[in-house]
Amino acid sequence: MSVPSWYWRLVRPDAISVWEDEEVRRRLKWYYEVMVDAKPAKFMIAKRIEVYEDPGKLDLEGLWSLHEEASKRFWDVFEKIRSDKMRFEELPLPDKWNLLHVKSRIAWETIRSCQLCERRCRINRYERKGVCQLDYRVYVHSWFHHLGEEAPLVPSGTIFYGGCNFRCVFCQNYDISQVTPREGILVDARKLALIQKELRETGARNINHVGGDPTPSLHVILESLLYLDVNVPQLWNSNMYLTVESMKLLRDVIDIWLPDFKYGSNKCAIRLSAAPRYWEVVTRNLKMIAEWKDPVIIRHLVLPNHLECCTKPVLKWIAENIPHALVNVMEQYRPEHLVAKYPEKWPDISRRPRWREMQEAYEYAEKLGLVYKPVS
Ligand code: SF4
Repeated sequence: MSVPSWYWRLVRPDAISVWEDEEVRRRLKWYYEVMVDAKPAKFMIAKRIEVYEDPGKLDLEGLWSLHEEASKRFWDVFEKIRSDKMRFEELPLPDKWNLLHVKSRIAWETIRSCQLCERRCRINRYERKGVCQLDYRVYVHSWFHHLGEEAPLVPSGTIFYGGCNFRCVFCQNYDISQVTPREGILVDARKLALIQKELRETGARNINHVGGDPTPSLHVILESLLYLDVNVPQLWNSNMYLTVESMKLLRDVIDIWLPDFKYGSNKCAIRLSAAPRYWEVVTRNLKMIAEWKDPVIIRHLVLPNHLECCTKPVLKWIAENIPHALVNVMEQYRPEHLVAKYPEKWPDISRRPRWREMQEAYEYAEKLGLVYKPVS
């Protein structure tokens, strides 16, 4: 569903005024340029990176070495386009295969012994379902112009995929992530490309891949970009529990990241999301984004009673390790899903955060020098 331009301008005037903020413009420069069609999205560039072997004839090892070589060439070209040293139009169209064919092939091969995320189920998703409750098929539950996202993203062409690799007891999308992940529309790559095209052509500023979590659907998402023929920033809206390999597959196609960074302690991550090694995995992936200097808006949901164990360590880590990020310090936590049903099991998070707790979180972000106001 799309919304007319006058409507979102009326209900979200900050989606326009936010671009007057120099700091936002500077930090989200690449995303902004793709958004206004002044630059090609990364996936458009990846499509012009030729590969000279048929990816369909290689095993996983061969595919990865082809990927490594082509991805280096991608990055060289991308840096030149990013810094106005080269024009996209100068890049010839490959005769047969390009970097996206390789990425898509790798992801489809990976799900034979799935390691798309750090659950590393190693099951054959052509035969069985993983912890994410998905086999090889991908389900979309809805797609529309989302007006509730951070100001620079609105209207955001959001696609909600079924299934998730986490088990958050307070999940706000628990129906599509946990309860009925396979009751959406079954999509293949061509259908998914058409959805993205429709969202962009009706005014979306970006394509926002979310869920559940989009990671288990990575194979179809990557393949869809082969068929997508409109320029639009690709946005990854995720819990960031991806493997390094999945991060590498995404590096050359994601124009802006929207990571969810919830927990400052592995104990909390296990208890509330059943996610082992949470801190190590998420900080490792965020460090990769920092190295790539990609635009990023990090979301941190303030949980009641979790200021010392989660909010403060998370904000401190961001300030020290990924200072170019914009940070959304989120106050919208409310008990949902299992916490709403059995509040006595999770008494610490059985209420909304108090005004005082939110003030403390904002003051701490301020003290650390984080840029949070334009997107919180
Ligand atoms: S994507 Fe699903 S099947 Fe694959 S490793 Fe993660 S939870 Fe397991």
